[in-house]
Amino acid sequence: MARVALVTGGTRGIGAAISKALKAAGCEVAANYAGNDAAAEAFRAETGIAVYKWSVADYDACAAGIKAVEEAQGPVDILVNNAGITRDGMFHKMTPQQWKEVIDTNLTGLFNMTHPVFPGMRARGFGRIINISSVNGQKGQMGQVNYSAAKAGDIGFTRALAQEGAFKGVTVNAVCPGYIGTEMVRAIDAEVLKKNILPQIPVGRLGEPEEIARCVAFLASDDAGFITGSTISANGGQFFS
Ligand code: NDP
Repeated sequence: MARVALVTGGTRGIGAAISKALKAAGCEVAANYAGNDAAAEAFRAETGIAVYKWSVADYDACAAGIKAVEEAQGPVDILVNNAGITRDGMFHKMTPQQWKEVIDTNLTGLFNMTHPVFPGMRARGFGRIINISSVNGQKGQMGQVNYSAAKAGDIGFTRALAQEGAFKGVTVNAVCPGYIGTEMVRAIDAEVLKKNILPQIPVGRLGEPEEIARCVAFLASDDAGFITGSTISANGGQFFS
């Protein structure tokens, strides 16, 4: 039977590439999103992958959304916590709301999504949880205290939960992308990108969403059963951890 994979933020950017890679690997895929109905509908029409709208920042919405996925497609075997946002600003100007929105989505979202599926994975003796963190959670980034804190938290979450899932066949890993050419990064001013960001990347280019998706598809596979608690850096040589 095909494994059921649920990808948060799975309709655009890196998440869309992950959803497609998991489908290509033979999974039955569900892609969640927050509000961009037009993008989600275009993605559904292009790929045939089922889409579900709720916010990962809302625990009750996650529980209800996961229930709907499981009723339609079966128990979730693979969870990819990919949904993420930025609300950048220097710390002395950062508002409590900028802090809260990023923590609620990028860190608490992992609790909200993982808590409802983890008991079933343990009971069935198989599970794959893959958390999309960031190079900026590993090294810290000026103007992103909120984002760096949340993404560093994702790594701690991964390492702790890996220890709880290991003897029940549930692996938990993190992937830390560097700069990937999605809308999130293309929103950065082109001159800033060229002058400040590309020179930091030894391979001399942005990464492709598919390069992250292939890492995730491997971690989700049966072949990756001995890898848990890991953090895979996919950043073009920008930072070694
Ligand atoms: P995009 O902005 O291109 O896409 C984000 C996706 O997440 C969208 O599908 C969006 O839904 C969804 N989303 C946002 N908030 C929520 C929410 N509260 N609940 C459910 N879904 C939500 O992002 P990227 O593809 O660039 O980034 C994906 C992940 O990779 C993020 O976690 C990001 O932090 C991380 N990352 C990205 C890097 C990059 O260079 N792009 C570098 C390092 C890490 P909708 O379409 O409805 O808005």
